[in-house]
Amino acid sequence: MINIPKGTKDVLPADSYKWQYVEGMAREVSRLFNVKEIRTPVFEHTELFQRGVGDTTDIVTKEMYTFKDKGDRSITLKPEGTAGAARSFIENGMYSGVLPTKMYYIIPAFRYERPQAGRLREFHQFGVEVYGAASAQTDAEVIFIADTLLKKLGLQIKLYINSIGCPTCRAAYNQALKDFFAPNLEMLCADCKNRYEKNPLRLLDCKEEGCKAINVNAPKILDYLCEECHAHFEEVKSCLSSAGVEYEIDPRIVRGLDYYTRTVFEFVSTSIGAQGTVCGGGRYDKLIEQLGGKPTPAVGFAAGIERLLMVMEQTGVVIPEPERPTVYIAGMDAECRKKAFALASELRKNGLIAEIDHMDRSVKAQFKYADKIGARYVAVIGGNELIEGKANVKCMETGESESVAFDQMTEYFKKK
Ligand code: ATP
Ligand code: MG
Repeated sequence: MINIPKGTKDVLPADSYKWQYVEGMAREVSRLFNVKEIRTPVFEHTELFQRGVGDTTDIVTKEMYTFKDKGDRSITLKPEGTAGAARSFIENGMYSGVLPTKMYYIIPAFRYERPQAGRLREFHQFGVEVYGAASAQTDAEVIFIADTLLKKLGLQIKLYINSIGCPTCRAAYNQALKDFFAPNLEMLCADCKNRYEKNPLRLLDCKEEGCKAINVNAPKILDYLCEECHAHFEEVKSCLSSAGVEYEIDPRIVRGLDYYTRTVFEFVSTSIGAQGTVCGGGRYDKLIEQLGGKPTPAVGFAAGIERLLMVMEQTGVVIPEPERPTVYIAGMDAECRKKAFALASELRKNGLIAEIDHMDRSVKAQFKYADKIGARYVAVIGGNELIEGKANVKCMETGESESVAFDQMTEYFKKK
């Protein structure tokens, strides 16, 4: 037997309605905010992620699915959605189109991680990207999109926000971080020693317990913001308040990706333990430029669909079950089953969910199957019914039966 690869999951037919529900809600919320879908390839040139995600990030240093294709190009399965959207924005010259450009995506993403609850090697994200607008109001709107989705899904999830400033204020902050970590350098993990040189901000994002303990006392970026960044952050906060979005400031949020500037945020659930971050995002004004485009401000987020579903399950959110088949049409013998096929076809043409036998089963066995698939009615056609031109229709809930003429079936079930 061939098994599923480690860190991946099947979504089985019995469960896919849950995914469709969450994805449908994401599309619906996008519609409300006038955000249009963008679809980009599952794989891109590796360089896109090296430049667009950042070569000091966990993603690029150790988590990417990278391979050479038969043409000797280095290809990577996308580990996140922003880089591809940004590449497409630049490549298609979207700056000269409608600005801001508001886009969303629903994608599989691939990261070579240690699989655990809420941490997979193939997972799925719903994300939003808004390019071209620098205002604090845009940051707040993007946060509000995520907040709206979470609330529509019935989730109470805490929002944490922070600002990591711009390159100007970050220079002073990076120095302060270096000064702080210098005496503790020996106690940091190997990754952090490397980050210390290349990008000290990343030290704050480390998941090692030892590093986390040291991080608690690190200087706070908010104390180092320049005037403009400070004002921007204040406005984001006041916009959020005006939209009725509750938040808490968490100076330790820096986000795992290199391209962030100013606002960063995370929605964190306490109900699923360690992998509680269901959604993360922020502003990344340097990204488009870093990828070779014209300077274009950008802000967005990505939410993990598996994690959303986990929180929904753990907090008892009931997802509406899919519509059950209206009727199963059972046939006693080959001739009757042929009639059942014709009648079911007619019902389906009229938009009703009808099901029939595919296995030459006895009527008793067909009833069992009808029950398993949750059919609301079973219409039985035997020799007599065939002659009389009507079926014996049984309501599975009440057990009551009545006779319905073949040519009245559509009418009859449309009212049910
Ligand atoms: P974490 O800190 O949990 O590793 P991250 O900072 O790497 O998350 P992002 O790159 O911001 O995550 O991705 C956005 C969202 O995608 C996360 O908030 C999470 O819900 C989800 N996510 C990220 N990595 C995984 C994964 N390996 N498996 C499942 N969901 C994931
Ligand atoms: Mg991660």
